[in-house]
Amino acid sequence: MTSQAGRAPGPEVDTLIIGAGLSGLVAARRLVDAGLSVRVLDKGRSVGGRLATRRMSGAVVDHGAQFFTVRGQSLADQVDDWTSRGLVTVWCRGFEGEDGHPRYIGTTGMNSLAKDLATGVDVRVPSMAVATRFDDLGHWEVTTDDGTIHRSRSLVSTAPVPQSFSLVFESVEGLPRAVFDADYDRTLGLLVVLDGPSAVAPPGGMQQPSSGVAFVADNALKGISAVPALTLHADPDWSLERWDADPSAIESELHRLAEPFIGGAGIVEAQVKRWRFATPRQPWSERCWIDESTRLVLGGDAFAGPRFEGAWESGIAAAEAVVTLCRSHR
Ligand SMILES: Cc1cc2nc3c(=O)[nH]c(=O)nc-3n(C[C@H](O)[C@H](O)[C@H](O)COP(=O)(O)OP(=O)(O)OC[C@H]3O[C@@H](n4cnc5c(N)ncnc54)[C@H](O)[C@@H]3O)c2cc1C
Repeated sequence: MTSQAGRAPGPEVDTLIIGAGLSGLVAARRLVDAGLSVRVLDKGRSVGGRLATRRMSGAVVDHGAQFFTVRGQSLADQVDDWTSRGLVTVWCRGFEGEDGHPRYIGTTGMNSLAKDLATGVDVRVPSMAVATRFDDLGHWEVTTDDGTIHRSRSLVSTAPVPQSFSLVFESVEGLPRAVFDADYDRTLGLLVVLDGPSAVAPPGGMQQPSSGVAFVADNALKGISAVPALTLHADPDWSLERWDADPSAIESELHRLAEPFIGGAGIVEAQVKRWRFATPRQPWSERCWIDESTRLVLGGDAFAGPRFEGAWESGIAAAEAVVTLCRSHR
C-alpha cells in the first residue's frame, strides 16, 4: 500500500479497481494471482472500507463489520489459511445460546484481514475517483482527486452502487434499473472506551438487545482489545430518523442507548461513527454486473448479499469476469 501523494500514475494496467473494501481487494488478489496487472484506488486513508478497526485510548475497536460467517467453499478455504496464520479465530457459535455456526473475527480486528489481502497489491490511498471515461481506443481513464489520470483495459468498481453509478453512467449504456434505484440503510454508531468491564455478558455480543439497537459488542470479551471498549450500532430506522439531527443531540441519544451496556464503568473516551452506505436494501440478483462492450464490472456486497461473505463472493465473481473479458480482448 502506498500513499498517493507524490506518486506518478505508472503505466496502463489491465484493470483498475475503485474501492479497497473486501470486494475490491479480493478481486485484486485473484487478478494478481492470475497474472494481470492491477491498481486499486480508494478514497479512504487506508484499506478496508466497512472492515474498519480503530485504536482509541489503548483500546482496539471494530466499528464496521463485527464478525462473519462462512457458507461457501471459497471463503472457507481462505479462513483455513487465515486461521493457520493466526489472523482469524472463532469468536463464538451464537450470541443468545449456541446454534453451532462459528462467528469468525480478525484476531487483531477485522481491518487486519483487508490489510492482509492488500499485501503486495498496488493500492493507492487516499485516492478518490472523481471521473471516468471510456475513450475512443477502448481504454478506461480514471481521474483521481489529485488530478492523476490512471489508464486501464478494464474497470471494476466496488464503491457503493450510487457512487459507482455517478462515476460510470456517461460511459455505459443499459445500466440496469436496480442500479438507478439502489439505496442503502444507514447506521449511527457509538464507540466507547471504558475504565472497567462493561455490563455485556460473555461471549460479548448482543443482537437487537433493546429498542433502537442493532448490535452491541464488547471488544475485550471478543478478544481483540486489552482495554474494555464497546461498539454500539443503532438500527436502520433509529439511524434514519436522527441522521440529520444536531451532532451533539445524536451523541447524547447514543449514550442513552448505550447506558445499560456500560453498567457501572466510567467512560474514558467516546466517538460517534456514521455509516451512510451501511447495508444495501435490495441486493442485486447476480454476484456482479458486467458490461462486455466496455469491460466494466460493478461489484460489492450490493450484488451478492449485504455481508462479509457477499462482498467476498462478489469480488471473486468480478475477478473471474475480468479475466474472461481481458482474454477475449487480447
Ligand atoms: C455498521 C456495520 C456493521 C456490519 N456488520 C457486519 C457483520 O457483523 N457481519 C457481516 O458479515 N457484515 C457486516 N457488515 C457488512 C460488511 O461490512 C460489508 O458487507 C462488506 O465489508 C462490504 O465490502 P465491500 O467491499 O462491498 O464495500 P466497502 O467495504 O464499502 O468498500 C467500498 C470502498 O469503496 C471506496 N470508495 C467509494 N467511493 C470511492 C471513490 N469515488 N473513489 C475511490 N474509492 C471509493 C470506499 O472508501 C470503500 O473503501 C457491516 C457493515 C456495517 C456498515
